[in-house]
Amino acid sequence: MDFAFDARTEELRAKLLAFMDEYVYPAEAVAEEQRERLASPWDTPAVVGELKAEARRQGLWNLFLPDSEHGAGLTNLQYAPLAEITGRSPHLAPTALNCAAPDTGNMEVLAQFGDDRQKKQWLEPLLAGEIRSAFAMTEPEVASSDATNITTLIERAPDGTDEYVITGRKWYISGAMNPDCRIFIVMGKTDPDGSDIRRQQSMVLVPRDTPGVEVKRAMRVYGYEDHSHGGHAEVVFHGARVPVSNLVGEEGGGFAIAQARLGPGRIHHCMRLIGMAERAIELMCRRAVARTAFGKPLAQQGVVHNWIADARVAVEQLRLLVLKTAWMMDTVGNKGAHAEIQAIKIATPRTVVDIIDKAVQLHGAGGVSQDFPLAELWASARTLKLADGPDEVHQRSLARRELKKYV
Ligand SMILES: Cc1cc2nc3c(=O)[nH]c(=O)nc-3n(C[C@H](O)[C@H](O)[C@H](O)COP(=O)(O)OP(=O)(O)OC[C@H]3O[C@@H](n4cnc5c(N)ncnc54)[C@H](O)[C@@H]3O)c2cc1C
Repeated sequence: MDFAFDARTEELRAKLLAFMDEYVYPAEAVAEEQRERLASPWDTPAVVGELKAEARRQGLWNLFLPDSEHGAGLTNLQYAPLAEITGRSPHLAPTALNCAAPDTGNMEVLAQFGDDRQKKQWLEPLLAGEIRSAFAMTEPEVASSDATNITTLIERAPDGTDEYVITGRKWYISGAMNPDCRIFIVMGKTDPDGSDIRRQQSMVLVPRDTPGVEVKRAMRVYGYEDHSHGGHAEVVFHGARVPVSNLVGEEGGGFAIAQARLGPGRIHHCMRLIGMAERAIELMCRRAVARTAFGKPLAQQGVVHNWIADARVAVEQLRLLVLKTAWMMDTVGNKGAHAEIQAIKIATPRTVVDIIDKAVQLHGAGGVSQDFPLAELWASARTLKLADGPDEVHQRSLARRELKKYV
């Protein structure tokens, strides 16, 4: 077993680490400051465009896409340590490299299931970082962790035109508040009464400017509006019409596409979470050596040693599991790595939430303030116990797989 990264990964890691130091970390404060002067907080600060141009110039672009026709052609194992590095600045670096969710999953869907026209119209500008996109599945009225519950209707137009009519309400649609988000991949039901509950759903492309699409409000995350992610919108479809040719894949194929989309998305989140944990450990250590209470630096308190040591052990464990999962996705496919993907999706957010929480504690009031990134990091990590499938859903499926061996 070889634990070393290959030459291409090492080269890209060195480049990316330098890019983070030179451009990304200094841009964090600049982006915040620029956002305060924007006409709308949902617009993109100019510094983000500058970061994107520089990343592209350096070849640090579309690294997430294993398909070498459209992306960098990296394996999951090669991409994992790079995504981890971007997780250290999760509100800027993934966007700078055109590797941010939900665009990544949407580009994968278009690359894998889109036809030539859809690729030209939507995939190409997404790959070029000219527009953003959103994925609209979750609905406020139904338990959406079970995607068969989705109620949004995608119906053939009754007037005989070659169009679908879309009616429904979605929420927590990431990225949708950003005006650069021009296209929604919408999951709904084309055959709500079909006998196979996993063939009732389809996906259609709905341009943002379609009449009948209402981006209603920004949902908050523990009070944060998540401007840098383009927010998480409630979106209502009031009989919005799109051509039938906007169907992605085939009618009834929506559920399967959603499953295919989530595998890579989950591991990308876990990779970035490890980077978030590393940032929290770094902040924790820096604060511990710099701050004195009751006559000695916090770094000399035994309890702080425990927090730091436990965090280091946990991160090393998680990284190994995530890298093993990446390797399995590369060697036996996403389906073959299903159990491992579930394992990392259960283990990573909760462990990282705990690590960030310790870093918050060590920072005292500063930890929950806006002057350190920890409070926002905590809120982001916490949402990943829900998004892309709540922990309990993965636990249920993993336990069933384990039990099957004994039945
Ligand atoms: C910040 C954020 C961003 C998001 N971005 C998007 C997006 O871009 N697009 C999109 O479509 N959705 C998005 N979501 C929605 C997310 O995917 C859903 O919240 C998630 O799938 C859970 O669905 P739900 O909220 O309807 O919870 P429900 O399905 O109502 O589940 C509630 C709880 O019930 C429990 N539960 C459910 N099933 C089981 C089970 N089998 N066993 C035991 N317990 C169970 C779990 O504890 C679960 O948390 C986002 C959510 C957040 C918080």
